[in-house]
Amino acid sequence: MPKFSNPIKSKLPHVGTTIFTVMSRLAAEHNAINLSQGFPDFDCAPELRALLTKYVNAGLNQYPPMAGVAPLREAIAEKAAALYGATYDPEHEITVVPGATYGIFTAITTLIGPGDEVILFEPAYDSYAPAVEVNGGIPIFVQLRFPDYSIDWQEVQNAITPKTRMIIINTPNNPTASVFSAEDLRLLEGMLRDTDIVVVSDEVYEHIVFDGHKHQSVARFPGLAERSFVVSSFGKTYHVTGWKTGYVMAPRELMAEFRKVHQFNAFVTNAPVQYALAEYMKNRDAYLELAAFYQKKRDFFLAGVAASRFKPLPSRGTFFQNLRYDAISDEQDTDLAIRLTREHGVAAIPVSVFYRKPPAHKVLRFCFAKSEETLAKGAEILCRL
Ligand code: GLN
Repeated sequence: MPKFSNPIKSKLPHVGTTIFTVMSRLAAEHNAINLSQGFPDFDCAPELRALLTKYVNAGLNQYPPMAGVAPLREAIAEKAAALYGATYDPEHEITVVPGATYGIFTAITTLIGPGDEVILFEPAYDSYAPAVEVNGGIPIFVQLRFPDYSIDWQEVQNAITPKTRMIIINTPNNPTASVFSAEDLRLLEGMLRDTDIVVVSDEVYEHIVFDGHKHQSVARFPGLAERSFVVSSFGKTYHVTGWKTGYVMAPRELMAEFRKVHQFNAFVTNAPVQYALAEYMKNRDAYLELAAFYQKKRDFFLAGVAASRFKPLPSRGTFFQNLRYDAISDEQDTDLAIRLTREHGVAAIPVSVFYRKPPAHKVLRFCFAKSEETLAKGAEILCRL
């Protein structure tokens, strides 16, 4: 370590290690059932693995085009048209990126500078506020209303100032498992109509919406699509979180600026993975059947904890189930999450970490993207508490 004459000036003085890393590490140390960090404990489809091998063996191992390989961008455009009735030009309006986190970070970096305000909803996925702050922007938080995590759009309206440059939305929502209704998006569309505010819409769980509801992509709403970066991730859709590949769709002017930043950061995204995904996307069932696949897991987990003293909150999308524990303990959720892992062998995410100040209600988030065997073991432990 060199001796710096001045202490290092942190750009993120209040930030520690993400809760996902902390809890997954603790779960591994204690050999606990890991229902904390959101990733499947089962493998992706053998066809997808075979496709990756095929393209690696075909020698497609050099830099792909900066915006992503053409067949993948075309497949993404076709999906957006078929599902959301939206037109995105694959040449200028779609960019493949190394994961949704990167896509969100790049969209924020593209537009946000010192003093710009960005409206976020609290609880907020943990990467949003640091990405705003590292660019000198100011996060402005609007609270989701407990227990249904709905939005008071009047509060959003009140939060808008002449400095508001961006609003970040996330439906289906992590960590609350709530989803936006069409009415939510219509209200947002109307509110932004005469402004220059840009939307970053985190839709990584777009294919995981339950109970027959439809995913409300901003791409369905022309007044929103024209001012939005839509971000998604193949990690969630195809059970390949470790492949770290996602995409961003935006109107041409916004995307041109986005690519200026992207080309000097990652520059490109893993080539053979993109070819494999492009071919695999031809099988539409793989994403169209995902909601039913995860709904079954949600219901299996809920049945498993039905006899416990935990009280489920609605899970309308994502692969998370939130459970209240008022009847079990008055500990902080951060303390309980650690104790559950160490003493009882099951790890969860304390939802308060997604707030600046811990809220009064007590909730733990459980990931059900797991085999039934894992879910049954986890639920059995929870029933003993
Ligand atoms: N999004 C995943 C979750 O919510 C984790 C991603 C990560 O570890 N950064 O659990």
